[in-house]
Amino acid sequence: MPEPYDPELSGPAEPKPYASELGGSSEQKPYAPDELRALDRAHVWHPYGPMPGRQEPLIVESASGVRLRLAEPVEGQRELVDGMSSWWSAVHGYNHPVLNEAARGQLDRMSHVMFGGLTHEPAVRLATRLVEITPEPLQHVFLADSGSVSVEVAVKMCLQYWRSAGRPEKRRLLTWRGGYHGDTWQPMSVCDPDGGMHELWSGALPRQVFADAPPDGFDAEPDPAYVARLRELIAAHADEVAAVIVEPVVQGAGGMRFHSPAYLRVLREACDELDVLLVFDEIATGFGRTGKLFAAGHAGVSPDVMCVGKALTGGYLTMAATLCTSRVAEGISRGEVPVLAHGPTFMGNPLAASIASASVDLLIGQDWEGEVARIGAGLRSGLAAASDLPGVVDVRVLGAIGVVQLDHEVDMAAATRAAVREGVWLRPFRDLVYTMPPYVTGDDDVQRICRAVCAAAREG
Ligand SMILES: *Cc1c(COP(=O)(O)O)cnc(C)c1O
Repeated sequence: MPEPYDPELSGPAEPKPYASELGGSSEQKPYAPDELRALDRAHVWHPYGPMPGRQEPLIVESASGVRLRLAEPVEGQRELVDGMSSWWSAVHGYNHPVLNEAARGQLDRMSHVMFGGLTHEPAVRLATRLVEITPEPLQHVFLADSGSVSVEVAVKMCLQYWRSAGRPEKRRLLTWRGGYHGDTWQPMSVCDPDGGMHELWSGALPRQVFADAPPDGFDAEPDPAYVARLRELIAAHADEVAAVIVEPVVQGAGGMRFHSPAYLRVLREACDELDVLLVFDEIATGFGRTGKLFAAGHAGVSPDVMCVGKALTGGYLTMAATLCTSRVAEGISRGEVPVLAHGPTFMGNPLAASIASASVDLLIGQDWEGEVARIGAGLRSGLAAASDLPGVVDVRVLGAIGVVQLDHEVDMAAATRAAVREGVWLRPFRDLVYTMPPYVTGDDDVQRICRAVCAAAREG
């Protein structure tokens, strides 16, 4: 139930002045926390929330290293260790001198220019870098402005590839249940159909083909019966399916589940045999999070199309990318409409691209594998205690991802409060309390995060 409407908080009391009456000064008076909260509640939509919001957001004043600094103490804490990496993106932590320098340097040259008819070093450097570090067959890069858009582009590429090849009937997608691919229309259509979004939009979303969720367990032996069913489903729909799209190895926002890389090899083989393209959505798993630079590396297979995002800019700016093979690019470019008709206004944004290149170089220039393994070991030891808590059904760790699964829906407010009391920022969802810390998180802070996860699991 939404909270009752409170006119005190929910709308501006005064009529709005015209902009000219506000004056042209760039001086902005700082808001007091109470004012900020009231205006936020009155005007600002937050993710997956009603308007006005149900839960009061914490006000962050600044962030540095792995710590968020709050505008005022909450539960006795003014600083919180970020156990979320800002939705898995801030892998190097906040206010990083190398990324700041990349941003400043680029800011003085240009923040943005259109990408139609123009190009620039930041975009070219980034695209080249991405081709170098992703599996060999991926050669061409479309820079998009968010993960969801990069998935839209991936879908458009696949449908257009088959259209150009004279097979326009191949325009559905096949995926397995339990996935998450973003919040715009096509991505929503391949998210787990049992989620609320699908029920809300059933009949409006394109109808895709769903296989059962892959059996749980990164280390589990592949289940031959599942493999057979998966192959059969792809074969049965090969005439109408343009592509199989999945998150490799870790299904993130759909439920934080891990599966055997062997299933990715099954998909690759089946897609090759049956003339279906294979898309890996590495938006959550890319840039080292699962212990390989890209999760596809666990399976040693390469997709035809791959999406990256989230950690691409080290959490600084919104940017994602869709990579494809020369076969896909050439197929599209030979077609009746020999162009990929997609071009966001902020495509290739130089600021984001400069920071992204700096972030990728920073990552691969260090022992990221060692850091991810170190954090994984810390999570394994620190979260072991959670197994004994009442209501906990599973504790799992892969790479720098730690998950505690409960037998009930988390009480988000209570769980958040418990974590904040431990000095940690977590954002549990559904029946999950989880963490994906920045790779620069020190051992003591990893243990602090683990204590917070346990506290949130206990009290949520
Ligand atoms: C977050 C996410 C997306 C969507 O990215 P946005 O930048 O939020 O649009 C898509 N796919 C996966 C696997 C994700 O984790």
